[in-house]
Amino acid sequence: MSKVLIIGAGGVGRVVTMKCAMNPGTFSEIMLASRTKSKCDEIAAAVKKEVGYQKISTAAVDAENVPQLVELIKAFGPKMVIHVALPYQDLTIMDACLEAGVHYLDTANYEPKDEAKFEYSWQWAYQDRFKDAGLTATLGCGFDPGVTSIFTARADKHHFDEIHYLDIVDCNGGDHGKAFATNFNPEINIREITQNGRYWENGKWVETEPFEIKKELDYPNIGVRDSYVLYHEELESLVKNYPTIKRARFWMTFGQEYLTHLRVIQNIGMAGIEPVMHKGQEIIPLEFLKTVLPDPGSLGDNYVGETSIGCRIRGIKDGKERTYYIWNNCSHQAAFDETGAQGVSYTTGVPAMLGAKMMLEGKWTGAGVFNVEEFNPDPFLEELGEQGLPWEERFDVDLEV
Ligand code: NDP
Repeated sequence: MSKVLIIGAGGVGRVVTMKCAMNPGTFSEIMLASRTKSKCDEIAAAVKKEVGYQKISTAAVDAENVPQLVELIKAFGPKMVIHVALPYQDLTIMDACLEAGVHYLDTANYEPKDEAKFEYSWQWAYQDRFKDAGLTATLGCGFDPGVTSIFTARADKHHFDEIHYLDIVDCNGGDHGKAFATNFNPEINIREITQNGRYWENGKWVETEPFEIKKELDYPNIGVRDSYVLYHEELESLVKNYPTIKRARFWMTFGQEYLTHLRVIQNIGMAGIEPVMHKGQEIIPLEFLKTVLPDPGSLGDNYVGETSIGCRIRGIKDGKERTYYIWNNCSHQAAFDETGAQGVSYTTGVPAMLGAKMMLEGKWTGAGVFNVEEFNPDPFLEELGEQGLPWEERFDVDLEV
């Protein structure tokens, strides 16, 4: 029974908070803190009414201000912090956790605000400090990164002697009825997908133009969708932790309509992250775009269809080549009915809660900074289905990739 501090009251924060409240045996008391307290209050009210969990409080915090964070953590006294605000705040929250002596978990690796670049080096640099403090920092415990990394760990532990080819496939087969919207924070999402593509092959990174490599892939219960290779952060830790991997790629589906909007946004400069002057005031185009785009948290109402995210793996077991596909499908509507949030927030928030549960129950332990594939995948995957994300696996299938 432990107190937990959740930071970030967006779509993912909503799901994490609801799901922690649904597991009161582990999470005995919750504080939800974010920049805008009214958003925390709205979620807390829903938790009290819909889940019937009363031991929840809220606070305003600037997660880029370490002294403020430390004061809040010390006053509330949680065992750990679940960080589901934005990747810009990873380092300040890690600093605050070290100073206050609590464990840390997040779902996305650090990004500096002024550079559209994400990599683990900044957070891996905290290894010795967390080790010396006897604290655990768990990185990337959403769906991708997160469950996809844990799926890979399962494949390695139970089904392969050597993994050679890893293709992570992420399909959103849902329809929210809007002309253009992103499924999580638009600023972070657009920075991610407009970067050059990158994949690992024969010991080095291969760069591509954005959306240069495309394939039609067939997703369970959804069908064939245009899928594109893009760079995704879990590739960096997976190729380090599984050195037998010869090639690792990440595929994501995009519809033509989405890509057309994205192209226009880029062509007219609205995806820019450099400040521009507007009526005597400095604004960042991408931040302004976020203000006018639909709030991802509001998409749930009419969202139909499913997400399907998994790993397609080829490698060797007992001297023979084998293929393996492991995935989860998640219905946007079912996610919304349960938590008031759409499937992308749900598939991120459930693993974040479950990773925290593993840490608090002593199933994932260790002092230092860990990517999720470094922990035992078994207890996590045993419980993932009953927590809302059932998964399936098939052997010796056509991987298409
Ligand atoms: P939202 O933009 O909906 O929510 C972010 C929340 O963080 C908002 O409540 C925002 O406050 C708050 N916030 C922003 N800056 C600060 C700050 N300085 N101090 C305190 N709070 C702050 O994002 P999502 O819920 O969609 O995503 C949350 C995280 O999950 C992101 O890091 C995203 O990258 C990650 N993610 C991970 C995925 C995975 O599978 N691993 C998939 C999808 C998302 P305010 O309301 O005031 O703006």
